[in-house]
Amino acid sequence: MSQKSPRPILRFAPSPNGRLHLGHAYSALYTWNAAALLGGTALLRIEDIDAERSKPEFAAAIIEDLHWLGLDWSEPVMRQSDRLEHYAAAGNQLRDLGLLYPCFCSRSEIAARSDNTDPEGAPLYPGTCRHLGRDIQIERLERGDPVQFRLDVAKAMQRAGMLTFTAVGPLVTDRPQVRYARPERWGDVVLQRKGTPASYHLSVVVDDAAQGITHVTRGRDMEAGTDIHVLLQMLLGLPSPIYNFHKLILGDDGKKLAKSRGSESLADLRARGWTPEDVRRAVGL
Ligand code: GLU
Repeated sequence: MSQKSPRPILRFAPSPNGRLHLGHAYSALYTWNAAALLGGTALLRIEDIDAERSKPEFAAAIIEDLHWLGLDWSEPVMRQSDRLEHYAAAGNQLRDLGLLYPCFCSRSEIAARSDNTDPEGAPLYPGTCRHLGRDIQIERLERGDPVQFRLDVAKAMQRAGMLTFTAVGPLVTDRPQVRYARPERWGDVVLQRKGTPASYHLSVVVDDAAQGITHVTRGRDMEAGTDIHVLLQMLLGLPSPIYNFHKLILGDDGKKLAKSRGSESLADLRARGWTPEDVRRAVGL
């Protein structure tokens, strides 16, 4: 019996730690175009799990900018700050599998001991706390030492075996390709830390499943993270969407646009008289 494939559901998932710029506009327009090409729909998720960097006024501004661009979504906006118990439950599932361990290392200790880097160029965690004795773990937890919980990636990979995911590209309608995930190149990633019940990696896989996302469209700069996402999907029993990585919009200096580098926001452009059509033309969509 042939199974009907689900209606394509895509998403745009910005973090509200600043105003949107042309790079975000490209990603959002790309996602809505891709949804239309696939005969599906696109949803909005506000990734405001990082309480220190996220601001409600930026979330409101993102929604305003997207509406100005002519984009809309058929379901209420999902906000990560409303979903903490779901991330905690996923963390507990991994803990019950014996795959999370407490790590007490500071950034500088990791940098001093690490002899390699992860795909983003950060010092690869050397595994210092992986084999801490239970007594020491309990003593330090009870003492309230700053702690983060890491995924034992080698142990997780033993459960997972060979891990693959489906990618399409450069267009979302291109033929699917099987790709192999290599989570080990990230080392034991942090999935929970005090004050934030989930890292980006954990919350994103939980939310993609909760929103029924069938196609993840995101910038090429986030391609390597898929290694961790498919591992978590396998461990948590979540479906794995199809992945499509789009090009990045670069500034005049050839670097990716970024708030931190002072890239002009859509609001700045609008104040200078730009129209949504000017934005589309500028990003080529
Ligand atoms: N929230 C992430 C960001 O703004 C993107 C999330 C994703 O596409 O998975 O960089």
